[in-house]
Parts: sequence; structure tokens; C-alpha cells
Amino acid sequence: MSTMLVKKLPIYLQEQIDQDLHDPIALQYVRSDHEDLPDPQALRDPIGDEAKSKSKLIIHRYPDRVLFLPTDHCAVYCRFCFRKDRVGQGGAVADDKDIDEALAYLRENENIWEVIFSGGDPLILSPRRLENLIEKINTIPHISVIRFHTRLPVVDPKRVTPELVKALTSSKATYLAVHVNHPDELTDDAVTALKSLHQAGINLISQTVLLKGINNNAKILEKLFRNLVAHNVKPYYLHHPDLVHGTAHFRVEMEEGMSLMKELRGKISGLCWPTYVLDIPGGYGKVPINDSYVRRLNADKWHVEDIHGCHHIYPPPHKKDKVHE
Ligand SMILES: *Cc1c(COP(=O)(O)O)cnc(C)c1O
Ligand code: SF4
Repeated sequence: MSTMLVKKLPIYLQEQIDQDLHDPIALQYVRSDHEDLPDPQALRDPIGDEAKSKSKLIIHRYPDRVLFLPTDHCAVYCRFCFRKDRVGQGGAVADDKDIDEALAYLRENENIWEVIFSGGDPLILSPRRLENLIEKINTIPHISVIRFHTRLPVVDPKRVTPELVKALTSSKATYLAVHVNHPDELTDDAVTALKSLHQAGINLISQTVLLKGINNNAKILEKLFRNLVAHNVKPYYLHHPDLVHGTAHFRVEMEEGMSLMKELRGKISGLCWPTYVLDIPGGYGKVPINDSYVRRLNADKWHVEDIHGCHHIYPPPHKKDKVHE
């Protein structure tokens, strides 16, 4: 393990990790030798971000909503990160010119109903910058919803200050998706941070990545989803892990994910149930992993239908990842 990587983490996480390097929190951040093993399934641009970029900071894949990426930095560096090639590299926070270009894109495209701030972690921007951005979005009439995707409330909860919370509130409906993978991440401090967001009128949802050795277990997922709902967070997505280079040791078979979901269905309140989703490689979008979209072909190949009714083989054969039927 590399102590250097642990040192780059917020003190809050370092303190948790110091106690046990193999606990489910440490495993998400500490480099593993498994990362160097050959990974034939890995793709360079696992979810096809590159294919759909319109302005430097905008990814417009679905008609009614865009991703807005104002920074490529995070408070942490997760070893399984699906934007591994992008996060933490190059300029930290976008400059004014790029932000203005992205805002112009939002203004000009009246079919954009929702703006999703992601990154990187948008909450590492200063409250003043966030407030400016949101004030500008508030003036765009066709935008009804602002959503933030962030890991900050669970990786550095003290950074969720009253100033930051205030900066996030808007006259538009506001949602915040907290990325959380294990019930141990919901410490008292994390719960306090979530509470302050909730009390400010921000709707809380969660996303979780299904990770081998961390949460591929019905009891752990049950505890995580129950704790989230009990703290006013609606579990939104459980992501099948993306085919990111060097993350094969975290990868769970789709079959296993499906049976975990089935096991939970009988046990927990529907409120606690996220949608288990696959981001189809190549930029074809996310689909729920269920019988309507996903069909097993053989021991290690699946047939996936995207939102346009096009068919794909998963994991994609290298070079050719689309089959026409
Ligand atoms: C995931 C994603 C979204 C948001 O999708 P939802 O299903 O609405 O959560 C939007 N744009 C892109 C490019 C995405 O990858
Ligand atoms: S917080 Fe999200 S974007 Fe940032 S390193 Fe972790 S997984 Fe990647």
C-alpha cells in the first residue's frame, strides 16, 4: 500500500483508515497491487463521455438533461473511479470563459430541463463560485431542476458548511445525489452534513457503485439503503461497475448483482430500493439491469438493449462494440 496516496486524502478519512487498512473505507482509496494485473475487459473511455461532449464542460447525451462539469478535481481519489482518466488531471477549476460558454449552451437549448453538476466533485468549488453559477442558472426559464453529484458529505463532511449549503439552494427544484458505497461511510459527521442539506430544502438521493469486497453483500446493501432512507436520502442508482482500467478486482458479475437485487426485493421497503443500472459502453446511456433490457447470451456475454432500441454485446468485444440485428 502506498502511504502517499493515503496522505492525499482528507484528514477525516485518514483518521478512519489509520485504524484498518483493509476495512471497506480504506479499500476504496488505498492502491492495490491488483491494479497492475492485466485487464482485457477495460476500455479507455468506459462510458463514452468523449463521444457526446458539446462544449468543454457539457456532456449532452439525453434530450432533457446535461452534465455540467465545472471541475475535474475531487476531495478524494477513488480507486474504482469511472472517470479515472479525467479526474484530477489538468486544470482544477474551469475558467470563466469555459463557464460562460457552458451557460450560453444551456440558454440556447430550450429542451434542457435539468442541469446535473458532476465532475470531479462540484462541491469543491468555493461557495461564492457555486452561488454565482446557480444564480445564472436561476435566470434560465426552461431549466426546472438542478442536480449535484457529490461525494463530499461522506468523504469530508465538515466541508459542508452553512455557506456551502446556502450556495446550493436555488429557486429551482434542487436535488443532491450523494455517492456512498458502504454503511460505515455514514458516520455522525456525514449524517450531520446530510441533515443540513435536507433542512435547507435540498432533496437527497444516493448513488452506489457495486464493488466486490466492499458491498457485494445483501446484508451490507440492506444496511446502507435503510440508513440512507432513515436519513432522508432516497437510494437512486446502484451502478454496475464500469470497465475502467485497473479495476478488475472490484468488478462484480452482472448475474451476482441481479441476484443481490432480487434478494433485497423481498426484504426491504420499496423506498430503500435503488435501480440497478448499467452504463452501456460507448456512450449509449444507462439502462436498468432487468429482463426488459438485459439478456444472458453465454457464460460471459450479455445482450443489452439501449434506450433507442439498439442492441449491444456486453462486455463489448474490442474494436466492434455494436451489433445490428
Ligand atoms: C448518468 C448521466 C445522466 C443522468 O442520468 P439520470 O438517469 O437522469 O440519472 C445525464 N447525462 C449523462 C451523460 C450521464 O452519464
Ligand atoms: S468522488 Fe467520484 S469522480 Fe471523484 S474520484 Fe471518486 S468516483 Fe471519481
